[in-house]
This record gives sequence, structure tokens and C-alpha cells, in this order.
Amino acid sequence: MTDNHGSDCHHKERKRPAGLAKNEKLVWDVLVAATEPLKAYEILDKLKELGVRAPMTVYRALDGLEEKGHIHKMDGLNAFVLCNHEGPHVVQTFLVCDKCSTVQELDVVAVEADIAPAVNAASFDMHTARLEIKGNCITCAAA
Ligand SMILES: [Zn+2]
Ligand SMILES: [Zn+2]
Repeated sequence: MTDNHGSDCHHKERKRPAGLAKNEKLVWDVLVAATEPLKAYEILDKLKELGVRAPMTVYRALDGLEEKGHIHKMDGLNAFVLCNHEGPHVVQTFLVCDKCSTVQELDVVAVEADIAPAVNAASFDMHTARLEIKGNCITCAAA
């Protein structure tokens, strides 16, 4: 059985994590409603009607959320997505659709299991390992 259709139903009921600052809550709310990764200025745009006008406010909130492990920055897209996981994790794996720009975070235990020993063997203090897998999502591939 490789059928996995049940898994795309659970992300709609995301509960906002505890311990967020006021602006972090606002940014989190924007990202949870988004269907694709958002750039900082797009987040700022959506928060203008709530009285947030300073880009620095958004950048600080994004930094805070990233530090707490609630969001990831997609370097290739220069945009942000919510994290699917319970807490901060070092190895992050994403499927990025070239056509519609949707991003899906994967839980690939093997990636972490293979990367961590190699990094340790090099005596390197790893902060983040991010793998962006480019291609087409199931909708775009079928189109
Ligand atoms: Zn994550
Ligand atoms: Zn797509």
C-alpha cells in the first residue's frame, strides 16, 4: 500500500503554539492561512490592515519563530513556511514545486541518520541541514 491520501487533511487544524510574542502570533496566523511560502514583504502586506507597518517588526517576528522551530526559511525561494514538526529540528527536507511554488515538508528519517554521522565525523557543529527537492507536485505533474 503506497496510497497516502489521508495525510493531506490534517494541516488545516493547526493550533497556534504557546509562548509566542504578539507579532509572532500575527505572522504565524498569516503563514498558517497561506497555501504557499510567503516572502517577508508579502507577510508585511497582509499585516498592514492590522497596524503592522515596519518591515523590521516582521523580520524580528520571523527570526523569533524560526529560532523557536515553528517556521523554516526556504533559501531558494527566499520565503517562509510553517514547520510540520513538534519542535526545532536540524535536518529539514522539502519538496518544492517548480510550477506552482507549493512546498511540502517531508519527514525523512534516513536523511538525518545519514547526514549526522558524516557531519560529526568532520567535527563540525551543525546548525541546519536543509534539502530542497525541486520538481512538480502531483497536481502540476498531472496537468
Ligand atoms: Zn520542520
Ligand atoms: Zn505544483
